[in-house]
This record gives sequence, C-alpha cells and structure tokens, in this order.
Amino acid sequence: MRIDVLTLFPPMLDGFLSESMLGRAQAAKLLEIKVHNLRDWTKDKHNTTDDRPFGGGAGMVLKCEPVFAAIEELQTPGCRRIYLTPDGTPLSPALALELSQQQHLVLLSGHYEGIDQRIREKVIDQEVSIGDYVLTNGTLAAAVLIDALARFIPGVLGEEKSLTTESFTSKLLDFPQYTRPAVYRDMSVPEVLLSGNHGEIEKWRHAKQVEKTSSVRPDLLK
Ligand code: SAM
Repeated sequence: MRIDVLTLFPPMLDGFLSESMLGRAQAAKLLEIKVHNLRDWTKDKHNTTDDRPFGGGAGMVLKCEPVFAAIEELQTPGCRRIYLTPDGTPLSPALALELSQQQHLVLLSGHYEGIDQRIREKVIDQEVSIGDYVLTNGTLAAAVLIDALARFIPGVLGEEKSLTTESFTSKLLDFPQYTRPAVYRDMSVPEVLLSGNHGEIEKWRHAKQVEKTSSVRPDLLK
C-alpha cells in the first residue's frame, strides 16, 4: 500500500513515521509513505498557498492552484483522495479497515480556516474527521488516520490477535491488563488472572469490559 501525505508541515511527521510499528512496517515494505510539502507546487516567489476568503471573515483559505497541481501529479487510477477535516465522516475501526484495503491513498491536510470548496468538489473523494474538536492543521489528523489503518495491514502488528481483542472491535471497551510483579506496593493483581483457569479469566474479562463500557461509553451498548 502507498500513502502520499500533502501538508504544509512535513517535519511534523518525521519522528512519527520513522518510529515503532510504522517505522518497521515501512522497512518491511508493507507500507510506503511519502510526505510532500504543498509549497513545492507553488509558482510564485513567496510560495503562497493561502489567500483571504471571498465574502470576508477571519483567517485564510488554502488556495486551489497548488492543491490541484499536487493531487493531479500524485494521484493514480483508482486511488482514494482524502481530505482531513472536522466536518468529515468520523473515523471508526470500520472505516480504518476499509481504507487499509486500498492500494493508494492521497491524504490532504488543511490549515488556516480550511480549503477552497472547489478542491473538495473536484479532487477529493472522501472527507474524514478524527473527532469532534478542531486542530490547528490536518497533519496530526493524517498521522492518526495512517496509524489507525496501518494496524489492519497484515503483518504490521506482531500478533494479529490483538486486533480482535482491542477496544471497539466487539463494541466493548478493553478489559484491564496487569503484568509482573503480582503484588506492587500492596496492590495485588486480581486472583483470577493468576488462577490459570482460562474459562474464568474470559468471564472476568468480559464482565470488566461490560462494566467499563457501561460507565464510560453507554452509547456503545445500545
Ligand atoms: N474552519 C474549519 C471548520 O470549522 O471546520 C476548521 C479548519 S482547522 C482550524 C484547519 C485544518 O485542520 C482543517 O483544514 C483540517 O485539515 C484540520 N483539522 C482540524 N480539526 C480536524 C479534525 N477534527 N479532523 C480532521 N482534520 C482536522
């Protein structure tokens, strides 16, 4: 799978993409990620990417010219062109899974007040939000989307099983985890986890998932 990211702030992604599982996934050629600076598609000497909004109002708007030029150069037949935006479709595990099965994604990160509407209408196929809050730019949102979908690419996670036990996969949040030592500062690990009785452990974990989900995300149980 190939992902091209268009941003005004490529260095924001440097450490993120080279560390941990994403770094290993790229080294193993499971995933190819290229980060591009939108300014590389500007033609004026100031490398202008934004301008004032028609109709007035605060802030600046990302201009058509560099974005059209960049997307038209990077796109391939059948690729999915995605704009990260707070008014997009909310990112979910199902959406991350669906996107992980694409061959090629082009991700556009906005800045300022957003982007010219004509970009959204002509060179964007899908709009995705990472949550009901507003970031200063879309670069972190692109990073979140890449991280969420990469987990579904076969071979990226060490143990594929963790995909099926994690929060949201079963509409329940995850159960509590413990590791050694069994007693730390007078706090003991629940007895059942030390019992070796897998049936009882499963039951306990499920009960804890229901308890946590009811208290933190009752909407998921509906
Ligand atoms: N005026 C826009 C609005 O109210 O919907 C917000 C623009 S925001 C300050 C600047 C950029 O950050 C957006 O163009 C988008 O790319 C990105 N962004 C901000 N919040 C986001 C979110 N929750 N999900 C995805 N992208 C987001």
